[in-house]
Amino acid sequence: KIVVLDGYTENPGDISWDEMKKLGELTVYDRTPAELTQMRIGDAELVITNKTAITADILLHCPNVKYIGVLATGYNVIDIAAAKERNIPVCNIPTYGTTAVAQFVMALLLEICHHVAAHSASVKNGDWSACADFCYWNYPLMELAGKTMGIIGFGRIGQATAKLAAAFGMKILAYDEYPNETGKLYGTYVSLDQLYAESDVISLHCPLFPSTEGMINKKSIAKMKDGVILINTSRGPLIVEQDLADALNNKKVAYAACDVVSTEPIRPDNPLLGCYHSIITPHIAWAPKESRQRLMDIAVSNVKAFLC
Ligand code: NAD
Repeated sequence: KIVVLDGYTENPGDISWDEMKKLGELTVYDRTPAELTQMRIGDAELVITNKTAITADILLHCPNVKYIGVLATGYNVIDIAAAKERNIPVCNIPTYGTTAVAQFVMALLLEICHHVAAHSASVKNGDWSACADFCYWNYPLMELAGKTMGIIGFGRIGQATAKLAAAFGMKILAYDEYPNETGKLYGTYVSLDQLYAESDVISLHCPLFPSTEGMINKKSIAKMKDGVILINTSRGPLIVEQDLADALNNKKVAYAACDVVSTEPIRPDNPLLGCYHSIITPHIAWAPKESRQRLMDIAVSNVKAFLC
């Protein structure tokens, strides 16, 4: 028995579960709220999740579980220690969305630099001059060439982002707890403090660990350049959102673009919602059809490998 707690419902022409269906008795849920997780897993042996948490308590009450597949790169929704204690392998999918997320970082950054949507909306509202008259221009454009991008977490997505940013003429600074030789091809490793001090754009790509939770806070923001642009496509809790909202409101941070927030779906009282210069997207960086197909293919081959 295989249960997918939050996966894709099948739409014609989109990703299908056909290959997974060949591997067992498959039940797919679109979304699973926490209070239904235990009931939906029931006596299933294989559990596949994207954002639905698998806690120690769930594993205690679902003793049949022998495998957990995570339809994502980040696996912070799983209580790894509890799974390990029960000898349950947890398989994440680290590579499927590397290009997609890097491209999304550039989409967020280009939107900040060009305000394409706002300029188009202005024209469609009959206001050509808001775009064309520089004296009254609400949305100035900015070039990336010659600017510095600081990348925190220089792994797969961080390096893929560096390649794209370099193509725009940006200089790349990188901070990683574990620098490696490949990284040196795409950026210059520096200390976190140097990265904060010299970057015009900071993009977060390290995983959510106790050591990285809240790393962007009042203290670290104070070390950044005035007017810095901050982009987070990694995990929401890396940022203390009230501190970022304060910095946006006092213009220390010029713009912030977050594809991820501390609580998802976003809570109506999230302080970033009220900030004029924030862009918030619903954790979709990973989701082009090409990367979802890759995700599905790898999820199937992981289950096959487990069953062999
Ligand atoms: P990766 O493992 O290849 O890279 C992460 C890097 O972070 C590694 O080089 C690691 O050494 C470094 N790191 C670890 N601890 C650190 C610390 N304390 N400070 C600085 N660096 C540290 O992972 P990846 O494939 O590049 O993915 C990065 C993150 O992106 C994932 O953890 C996930 O949370 C996020 N992600 C988001 C989406 C989305 O749709 N928004 C999609 C995929 C992945």
